[in-house]
Amino acid sequence: MSKFWSPAIQSLVPYTPGEQPKIDGLIKLNTNENPYPPAPGVQQVIATFDAERLRLYPDPDCQALKQALATDQGLQPEQVFVGNGSDEVLALAFMAFLRQSQPLLLPQTSYSFYNVYIDLFGIEARHIPLHADFSINLDDYQGSNGGIIFANPNAPTGISVPLSEIHRLLERNTESVVIVDEAYVDFGAESATALVSEFPNLLVTQTFSKSHSLAGMRVGFAYGQAELIDGLERVKNSFNSYPLDMLAQLSAIAALEDQTYFNQCCQQIIATRDWTTTQLTALGFDVLPSHTNFVFASHPKVAGAELMQYLRDNRILVRHFTKPGIDNHLRITIGTETQMQALIDCLRNHPSL
Ligand code: PMP
Repeated sequence: MSKFWSPAIQSLVPYTPGEQPKIDGLIKLNTNENPYPPAPGVQQVIATFDAERLRLYPDPDCQALKQALATDQGLQPEQVFVGNGSDEVLALAFMAFLRQSQPLLLPQTSYSFYNVYIDLFGIEARHIPLHADFSINLDDYQGSNGGIIFANPNAPTGISVPLSEIHRLLERNTESVVIVDEAYVDFGAESATALVSEFPNLLVTQTFSKSHSLAGMRVGFAYGQAELIDGLERVKNSFNSYPLDMLAQLSAIAALEDQTYFNQCCQQIIATRDWTTTQLTALGFDVLPSHTNFVFASHPKVAGAELMQYLRDNRILVRHFTKPGIDNHLRITIGTETQMQALIDCLRNHPSL
C-alpha cells in the first residue's frame, strides 16, 4: 500500500515470481510452456541476424507478420492485430471495447488476468458459474451486456466449447464485443477465427507462446474485422507505435512458415497429454477432458495443496490455485514424454496413492 498509488491499484498483487524459480534441474510443468524448441527456422533467424540492424526501429506496422498471419487464415492484414504477448492484446482490448456502462459477462472460473483489468478499470462484471462438470455453457450468457470474454479452451480447466455454441452466441449477441481468448486452441479445440468474416463484433486472440514455443519472445495477436482492429490500433498507437521488436517479428514469421514442425509438435503434445490422462486416471485421479497443453486433475484421497508440495519437494513444479471450488486441483503442463514419465513415477511413490 502507498499513498502515492491510485485507488484502483491498491489491491493489485504482482505476478508471483515463485512460478519462475531460478533453480536448475527442475521439471517445470507449472506455466504451460512448450517443452520443445521453436521451429528450426526461428533458430536460423536468430543465428544469422545482423546486430547492426538494431540501430534502426522495427516496422511499426508489423506488416510482414500481419500478412503472414492473415494468409494463414484466409483473411486480410487489416483484420490482424499484433502485440507483446496475448496479455498485451487482451489489455488493449479491455481498454478499447470493454469499458462500458453495461456489465461484462465472463466465466466465474477462467484466466485470472481478466479480473485484474476489471478491477483496474472499475468495470462492472457478471461472473457466470461453470457447470458442475466445470464446463462453460454459452447459452448461460444472456441479457444486455457491455461485452463478453471467455477463454476457449478455458483455463485452468482445459475444457473447450464447440464452435456451434460460439456461433449461436454471436447470432443472438450482436450489440457488444465478444472476445474469445484462444491461447490454447491449437491443442485440439475448434477456432472461432472461421467466424470473423461473419460477425463484426468478434475478436479472437491467440499467441505464439504455447503452440509455437515462443513464450520468451512475447508475441500475441488477434483476428477481427477491420473496425475492431482499428479500435485496437488507436489505443496502442496512443501509447507506443512499436508493438514488437525486430527479432520477435522475424521469429514469429519463421515459426508460422514451418507448418510441418508446428503440426508435429502439437500432435506430440496431444499424444503425451492423452497418455498422461490415462496414467493419472489409473492412479485414481479425476482428470478433466483437455483440449490444451495441460491437464486439470484432482485426487479424492489427497488434497491438491499437499500433492503440489510433494511434487515440489521432488523438484517437479505444477500449478495449484487457492480459489475455492478449484483448490483441490492441480494444473499440470504437458512436458516431454520423459518428464511426464517422471511425474507419474513420482506420484506412484506417494504413500497415499
Ligand atoms: N490467455 C490465457 C488463457 C492464458 O493462459 C495465457 C498465458 N498465461 C495468456 C492468454 C497469455 O499468454 P501470452 O501473453 O504469453 O500470449
